[in-house]
Amino acid sequence: MIDFHVHCDYSSDARGSAEEYAAWALKNGLRAMCFTTHCDLDPKRRHHDGKVRLKGEIVDVTSDWLGHYVKDVREVSARYADRGLEVRLGLEIGYTPGIEHLISPVIDSFDFDFILGAVHTLEGTDLVSSTESKEYFAAHSPREVCGAFYRDLGEAVAAGLFDCIAHIDIYKRMGFDHYGEALNRAHEGLIEPVLAGIAERGISLEINSGGFRKGFPWPFPSPDILALAREAGIKDITPGSDCHTPEEAGYKIGECLEVAMKAGYDRIAVFAAREKSHILIDDVSIGDARGK
Ligand SMILES: [Zn+2]
Ligand SMILES: [Zn+2]
Repeated sequence: MIDFHVHCDYSSDARGSAEEYAAWALKNGLRAMCFTTHCDLDPKRRHHDGKVRLKGEIVDVTSDWLGHYVKDVREVSARYADRGLEVRLGLEIGYTPGIEHLISPVIDSFDFDFILGAVHTLEGTDLVSSTESKEYFAAHSPREVCGAFYRDLGEAVAAGLFDCIAHIDIYKRMGFDHYGEALNRAHEGLIEPVLAGIAERGISLEINSGGFRKGFPWPFPSPDILALAREAGIKDITPGSDCHTPEEAGYKIGECLEVAMKAGYDRIAVFAAREKSHILIDDVSIGDARGK
């Protein structure tokens, strides 16, 4: 099994050291795992999201923590390389239009394997915070949410900074309870240009099992959006669990791959030193992490 979206405890909302994740992953049959700790650089949200954990303390994302993270992950990677688990070094970078100049130097500062780009906030509001998103949803229609989300995501794609785009319909996570079924079609006519941009630039699209974890019958993206991605010519997909505890590494990646196969995909894209390579889904052991 392969999991390219893993948060260890450098993320303030995660538990477990990189070593603990690797030990669990090896024991549970993962072949490759990429750490993608949160890196949220929007100065307007510095007091909310702009934090990381270093040696048990919550510190500012602008402080000197990244070198520690890199060293830590590289050491774990070296320890596990001969034991059958590839551990890769990545970041999940929160994108907001206009902060490209803050993101680029971070990406360039170390030899990362994988840079995952994500939109988590809209117009300064955290879409995945239950309290913040509630207010935002109360003031906006489903179409307005999707309009703003795919506008920002389109800019994230055009920025040319990311290897892969994370959870392309994450607004459903908190929004579904508020809007119901109306939200499931609100992307129509808005998402297509974003998918075209992803295809054109050869960026990978994440299949994130967080949808299953949150009780949806599908991952992010849902199968209808994955079908649109295929139609748009997106060739590369990368599975990730978005786990925040060691025991969830590899969570329902097998089910994500089944959804991908139904949409017509027969391979996944993985990354090392930001270079893409492919593995046939048939060659990834689907069963071993199914249902975990
Ligand atoms: Zn995310
Ligand atoms: Zn994440």
